[in-house]
Amino acid sequence: MCVQPLASGLMYLNDKKASDFVLQHMDLSEEAPDAIGCAIMLLHGVQFRYSAKVYKSGMGALQIFDDISCYPTVVRLKSSDGSAGHCITTVGLWVFDSNKAEAELLSHEFLDWCCSTDTEKDIFVAAHYAVRFINMKPRKEWNLCDACRNGKGKQKCIYKFR
Ligand SMILES: [Zn+2]
Repeated sequence: MCVQPLASGLMYLNDKKASDFVLQHMDLSEEAPDAIGCAIMLLHGVQFRYSAKVYKSGMGALQIFDDISCYPTVVRLKSSDGSAGHCITTVGLWVFDSNKAEAELLSHEFLDWCCSTDTEKDIFVAAHYAVRFINMKPRKEWNLCDACRNGKGKQKCIYKFR
C-alpha cells in the first residue's frame, strides 16, 4: 500500500484536492504493478503539476534522517529480512503508514516497526526507493516551511531529525 500514506501526506500538506484525487484513483493504482509510478502520473498532470524527484537504491538513495522535506515523500523501505515491499510517506518529521491511523514522528524505532510484522521483528535498513512530490507553485495555504516553499525542493528544510 503506497497510495494511501501518500494521500495522508498530501492531506497533511493541506492539498486536499490532490489527496482526494489520489484516493479516488487508488483502486486503479494499487492494481498496477508500479503503484508509485502511477501516483507520479496522477500528480504530474496539468491539474496538480507536481514534479517527482526519484531516489533509487545504492549511492543515490534517500537518506531518510538527513534529507527532510515538507513535501510528501513516498518511501519503499528495505527491511533486514531483505524485503522491500512496505511503503510509507514522510512529510517533514512525520511518517504516515497505512497500518497506523495517526502519523508518527520519524524515528529509528518507528521505521523498525514499519518493517516488522505481527510475528517477525525486523529492522529498517535503508530507503530502497523513494519519490518526493515537489510543487513549483505551492499554494499559500499549504503547510510548508519557507525553505521548502521558496527553494523549489533545493533548499534545506528547516526541520531536522535530532
Ligand atoms: Zn520544509
